Amino acid sequence: MPVVEARGLVKRFGGVTALDHVTLTFDEGMVYAIIGPNGSGKTTLLNVLTGYVKPDAGSVHIMGKDVTKWPPHRIASLGVGRVFQIPLPFRTLTVYDNVAIANPSLSGSEVMELLRLVGLEGKAWERAGRLSGGQQKLLEIARALAKNPKILYMDEPTAGVNPGLFERIENAIREMKERGTTVVIIEHNVRFVSRIADEMIAMAQGRVIARGAPEEVTRDPRVIESYLGS
Ligand code: ADP
Repeated sequence: MPVVEARGLVKRFGGVTALDHVTLTFDEGMVYAIIGPNGSGKTTLLNVLTGYVKPDAGSVHIMGKDVTKWPPHRIASLGVGRVFQIPLPFRTLTVYDNVAIANPSLSGSEVMELLRLVGLEGKAWERAGRLSGGQQKLLEIARALAKNPKILYMDEPTAGVNPGLFERIENAIREMKERGTTVVIIEHNVRFVSRIADEMIAMAQGRVIARGAPEEVTRDPRVIESYLGS
């Protein structure tokens, strides 16, 4: 059974069809990259899968449960996490405490282990508000990992991050995969996600236009054309 199954999702905003019959499945422990030009429906898809936006038609099943009408917190309670594009740490708390409160059952050494994974162990006792934007993003990823999600959705993890830190994001995603988490990443940096995704899903105009191995999808003429036309 797939971990996530979306069937025939349709979402319209006024005259715009943001999702036009999107059907897809995500399997356990796999890393998926969703690519596509601006306005192709990627964010709307994540919003529907996490309950923030209700579809006009279609359904979402998570581990066999129909969650289509569930609010976001109830979907989250199934072990669904999300790393938003704009990180929102507790700015006045330390980096360490930000991770510790994400999952109070973690031991001190487990918290430090997560900080080490994203290269923030040297910042553990600084206030989160003092970190750079890229470091705050890494902290957000460590917080998501602390919760040990079954499924993790990531909105553009490399956006606004210094390329020198990409490797740390990559390490965190690989660690999640090793733990059996299904990771779904929206990403503009196609080269970055090609390295880590098991499967790539290309969207254009609210539809899935290609799906498969990253090296095949990125060479697909329809995918190339969707970017050139945008
Ligand atoms: P992407 O994430 O691929 O850039 P989006 O899902 O953000 O695409 O947007 C898909 C389309 O839906 C775009 O045309 C966008 O303008 C429109 N859209 C998304 N959210 C809203 C909204 N809340 N209200 C009106 N239009 C929206």
